[in-house]
Order: sequence, then structure tokens, then C-alpha cells
Amino acid sequence: MARQKRPILVVGGGIGGLSTALALGRRGWRVRVLEQTPELGAIGYGIQLGPNVFPMFDRLGLRDAVLAESSLPGACVMFDALTGEPLTRVATGASLGERFKHPYIVLHRVDLHHVLLDACRAVPLIELESSTTVTGVDDLGDRVAARTADGQAIEGDAVIAADGLRSRIRAQLVDDGEPQPIGYVAHRTIVPMAQVKADVLRTDVALWAGPGFHIVHYPLRHGSLFNIVAVFRTATHADKGDVEAYRAELTHTYRDAHPTMKALLAMMDLERRWPIGDHDPTRRWCQGRIALLGDAAHPALQSFAQGACMAFEDAVCLAELVDMDDGDHPAAFRRYQAARLLRTARLQLESRSMWGFYHAEGIAREVRNETCRGWSDEDVFRCLAWLYDGFTLPTEVGRSEPAPREVAPARSRSAAV
Ligand SMILES: Cc1cc2nc3c(=O)[nH]c(=O)nc-3n(C[C@H](O)[C@H](O)[C@H](O)COP(=O)(O)OP(=O)(O)OC[C@H]3O[C@@H](n4cnc5c(N)ncnc54)[C@H](O)[C@@H]3O)c2cc1C
Repeated sequence: MARQKRPILVVGGGIGGLSTALALGRRGWRVRVLEQTPELGAIGYGIQLGPNVFPMFDRLGLRDAVLAESSLPGACVMFDALTGEPLTRVATGASLGERFKHPYIVLHRVDLHHVLLDACRAVPLIELESSTTVTGVDDLGDRVAARTADGQAIEGDAVIAADGLRSRIRAQLVDDGEPQPIGYVAHRTIVPMAQVKADVLRTDVALWAGPGFHIVHYPLRHGSLFNIVAVFRTATHADKGDVEAYRAELTHTYRDAHPTMKALLAMMDLERRWPIGDHDPTRRWCQGRIALLGDAAHPALQSFAQGACMAFEDAVCLAELVDMDDGDHPAAFRRYQAARLLRTARLQLESRSMWGFYHAEGIAREVRNETCRGWSDEDVFRCLAWLYDGFTLPTEVGRSEPAPREVAPARSRSAAV
């Protein structure tokens, strides 16, 4: 039985949108997911998930299904990209599991998406709608309406915008422009493990850190596939889409890199390029019956590989607060922002610092290398404890505080909101 007549609208069927729909649907809330692409699915690359995501999987009933699709790397090894020296080896196997109570995993995004989609499809209260591009939302006081590119006005009790880094709803609520480009781009590739001829780690996560560039690689699908992400600074940025020009640029950028990195680059598919960017943290995730979630609310550089983990934490937190406030969506959304703001803002800010650390040049690079050489597992675990120890859901500590008051819009485009 649905708890309400009108559905809660979720804009975006990515990790944040589907996990929100699932968290709400499992608690008896009707949800309608509006996704712009013709098919709900992920772009086909790898993803790393830290131990903090597992308590969320438990709440969503996903732990076993996700683990069945995952590999558990034994370590994350950071190499100097110029010399090939292993600088630090962070245990991600048994000792991490013991310290943080849950594993560190890598898996194919498509497999994660299928797990989420199957779980959503098993909940009759969740309606999944593809080919629906939301262009804006209106808060009508006692309900909302999502305007779509094909001229519909879809009504709901509230709207949760999980429409990613370039969120249109964020533009409406926060009005802070396009994501800030940092001058770096990424290329991503998956190849069969059997085709990997380079002398590389095949069971662990590797990060090759260089001046203005890095490469991350790890196995997928139980070692049958090999995922490579190459990230580098570029002046030409997102120009054209010319594969030959990209290839020439990579050859130049990585000219001093270790031969293993060059062998990895030779395997890269350069068809698609992702400009890297983020936003400053903001306090404007919600307004009335509208809330932002995941990358739409707090996009971070991928230095800690935690963006998706944060979206899962957001989803469970938001759904539990909606449930607790029993239909008072504006109050639940304010509590959700208050609960999630500092943790996600810290990730945004620390990800920027870590970006500089990975890409250090000159003396800074030597300082970084010297520092890393002295690290033990315990040192690294201490640095990551704020993330990997997880997020305490407000519903676990009880409802002691009244919902915070709404913040007045700073630069108002809010007539439409
Ligand atoms: C190179 C790279 C590597 C990364 N690696 C990791 C990692 O290892 N671990 C990790 O935790 N995170 C990682 N991240 C971050 C992670 O991918 C994101 O944080 C996560 O995908 C955010 O999920 P989301 O649902 O908020 O947004 P998205 O995944 O971007 O989903 C948004 C969805 O909304 C849809 N949409 C957009 N606009 C509209 C609209 N107007 N109407 C309807 N639908 C719309 C989109 O089609 C999409 O389906 C990485 C990011 C990058 C760029």
C-alpha cells in the first residue's frame, strides 16, 4: 500500500536516483523516477566503493547482490609515475575489513546499476520512466510539478533532484553556474585481462601519481577485465573529439612517464573524454519541497573515489528522514541537508587538496614521496577514518532537534521554484 497518493518525483536514474527510489519504495513511499536517457543504465566503467557504503547496502538489502558482482582487491598501491617506485601500499583486504568492519570493493558500474534496477523493479511502488528530460521544477505549495522537455508537467508530493554534476535543478536552486573546470580531463577504458601485456598489478588497485597526470587501474568481473582511467592536465581541454589529436596530446603529456604507464596508455580507447570539475560546497540543497542529492548537491573531484558512496549515504539518510517526518517533506529535506552538509563538504574540500598531492611537481613531489614512504597501514587508516568509519544516520541517534529553518535564497531565481 502506498503511503501517499501523489508520488515523490526523483529526477535522474543514476546511482543517487535509483538508491533514493529504492530507499523510499522499501518504506512504502510511491516514487516516480524520471531519467533523460532512453534506457536506464550506467556508462560501462569500473567503480571503487569504500567500506562506509556497506551499512547503506544493508539498509537497502543489497549487500549480497553487490558482493556477488565485486572483486576485493588486497591493496591499493601508489606508484611514482616517473620512476615506477611503489611509494605506499594501503591494505584494502583483511586488515581494512577488520579495522572498518566492511570490505573495500571494485566492480563494473553496469553490474552495480543492474543490481539497483532489479531491486527497484521488485518494488511495485517504484515507477521507472526513461526518455524523460526534466527542464525545471515548480513548488506549488502543497505539491510540485516537474516540467519536461516534451511539454509535460508531472505532479508529485516533492522532488528529489539526483541529476548529476550538471544538474538543471541545482542551477535553479543554487544558481552557481557550470561546474568549475580544473583543467584536467579523464579517459576511461576496459580491456579483457588476457590482452594486458604490461607488467602491472592484476589483483590490486594501482595509482600512478605524476606531475599533472595520473593513471588508476584495477581488475573487474573477478579478474576477467581490466579497468584503466587516465587523467591529465590539458590546455586544449574538451576541444573537438578528435582521437588522433587526443593520442598526440597523451603522448606529449606522458612523455616522461614510466614505460609501464606508456604501455597502459597504448591500450586506451580515446573516443570519449570527460572534463573534470566540481562546485564549491553550498548550503542550498533544498527549498520547500525540492531537494538536491548526490553530485547535484555536492560534486567532488574523484580523489577519494567516494562520490557514489556519498550518493548512497544521502539516499538512505533522506528516505529515513522523509519516513520519520511522515509526509512533512520540507522539514525532512532541511534535516537531511543539516545531517549531510559537513561530511560531504569535507569530501569536496579534501578531494581538492588530495588532487594537488597526487599531481605534485618538483620539490613538492619529492616531499610527497618521502612522506608516503614512511606510512604504515595504521597511518593511512587514521587519515581515512572520518570517511570509512561511516555516517551515523540521524535516525540512529533519534529526533532530538527541531528541523532547521529554511535559509532565504541568496540570488533568487526562485520564482520558478
Ligand atoms: C572518472 C571518474 C571516476 C570516479 N570513480 C568513482 C569511484 O571509484 N567511486 C565512487 O564512489 N565515485 C566515483 N566517481 C564519482 C561518481 O561517479 C559520482 O559521484 C556518482 O556517479 C554520482 O551519482 P549521481 O546519481 O549523483 O549522478 P550521475 O551518476 O551523474 O547520474 C545522474 C543521472 O541523471 C540523469 N539526468 C541528468 N540530467 C537530467 C534531466 N534534466 N532529466 C532527467 N534525467 C537527468 C543522467 O542521465 C544520469 O542518469 C567517479 C567520477 C569520475 C568522473
